[in-house]
Amino acid sequence: MSVKIIPVDPFDLIIFGASGDLARRKILPALYQRFLASQIPPETRIIGTARSGWDSAAFRTEIKTSLEKYIPESRRDADSIARFLTRLHYHPVDVKGDKGWDALVALVNDTPNPVRAFYLSVAPALFGPIASQLSQRGLRTADSRIVVEKPFGHDLASAQELNKQLAHCFREDQIYRIDHYLGKETVQNLMALRFANSLLEPVWNAQHIDHIQITVAETIGVEGRGAYYDKSGAMRDMVQNHLMQMLCLTAMEPPARFEANDVRDEKLKVIRSLEDVPLPDIVRGQYRANGDSASYRDDAGNPDSTTESFIALKVRVSNWRWAGVPFYLRTGKRLRARMSEIVVIFKDPPHSIFPHPEQRHNSNSLVIRLQPDEAITMHMNIKEPGQGGFRLTEVPLDMSFAETLGDGRMADAYERLLMDVIRGDQTLFMRGDEVEAAWRWADPIIARWQEAEDIPEPYDAGGSGPDGSLALIHHDNRRWRPIEA
Ligand code: NAP
Repeated sequence: MSVKIIPVDPFDLIIFGASGDLARRKILPALYQRFLASQIPPETRIIGTARSGWDSAAFRTEIKTSLEKYIPESRRDADSIARFLTRLHYHPVDVKGDKGWDALVALVNDTPNPVRAFYLSVAPALFGPIASQLSQRGLRTADSRIVVEKPFGHDLASAQELNKQLAHCFREDQIYRIDHYLGKETVQNLMALRFANSLLEPVWNAQHIDHIQITVAETIGVEGRGAYYDKSGAMRDMVQNHLMQMLCLTAMEPPARFEANDVRDEKLKVIRSLEDVPLPDIVRGQYRANGDSASYRDDAGNPDSTTESFIALKVRVSNWRWAGVPFYLRTGKRLRARMSEIVVIFKDPPHSIFPHPEQRHNSNSLVIRLQPDEAITMHMNIKEPGQGGFRLTEVPLDMSFAETLGDGRMADAYERLLMDVIRGDQTLFMRGDEVEAAWRWADPIIARWQEAEDIPEPYDAGGSGPDGSLALIHHDNRRWRPIEA
């Protein structure tokens, strides 16, 4: 079966921060992939801007190099790259001042396309200044869209301030706050599995589910972002946004319709149902040197740092559906493998008719894997095939069907999200009140360990995190799924 591609309307996408890492590594390669799939009409314009003093020709040369670096050889050819590059324009602007804006405005207003979107791939401190320039200079049209990247604030007060600055110039239905985890095919498939089948939803509750694990493990350290990361830590950098979004989609009630505000209303209810987390249910860790790997403190350039590069939390969703079901969250850097997954572990049958030790079974589990390979597998117990007696064995049932339904290539999250911006679909973007609610939950937890002057527990770079994180779940007679690729 081939994937149906519906072309979007011709658009003008103005990228602020077009010379930066995100634009080169993610945004422009994603646009190229959609261009290659004929989803982007040929009259579309991608207008880059940053302080770098390039012209359009220099920008095209830079982006050609990036495409050659980030797009696999099998997915690119000289002709399609050349055609894509003709869609690119560039004009330098320092957004903190007035210089350069007039020429950028003239470029954007010259034969405009029906859809206009601004992508702010810059530090959040520049969101407000850019939004007000767009408004003052008449670039913001009645239905133009503005896309902003994470981090959306450092705490509740800063997130509220960013929301205020954007709301001053754009309506909420024009603002697209990206969390790229929501653009992953498998995360959307979780919604399809839950709400388009009658099989899972009846057992998706405290009566049938024992607990849920959400893991985002990285092998990399702070990679040149040490100064930023050391002020942030795993809770702010990962839990408040990515893990929170994964938790919301797992725990939310069925929305009335698969539409932006219906879905976001349900996610907001989940965040508002989260209980405060006491200190004994929080384990913070910091990686120490191991073999060739330097310590976090060396990587971050702060010998006294008490910032966590790992965190595990036992979280409770205080509502009818999830009463008594713990959600164990963990995320960290310099771990054994790069892996992101949501695991739903079901309760055991109320009575086992298989009493012998060799007939032991594992609990059923649904594993929704986002990284490194997207997949959904249901782990079932079956009889071990053959005549040698009656023994049980666990088999994974592949429910992702990527091979059957597509060309075998999972589109990058940015491809999906960028096309949703152009289509004007906000379902997979965070609403302002959602982000604020997530900070309202996270802030007191952070304040609690700060007041207690908590020191993160060291763990070996390349391991599975601090021992305390194992104890957190062992204490409840449960086990983490191993961190493995
Ligand atoms: P980056 O490589 O530092 O790029 C920042 C961009 O902003 C550059 O193009 C820079 O260009 C431009 N810029 C800085 N000051 C400017 C000014 N006064 N006027 C105009 N342009 C200015 O950062 P990045 O990694 O691309 O990240 C961009 C944003 O996305 C950040 O908020 C980051 O947190 C977020 N993000 C990044 C990633 C990622 O994987 N990189 C992932 C998630 C979120 P010039 O120096 O040429 O002006």
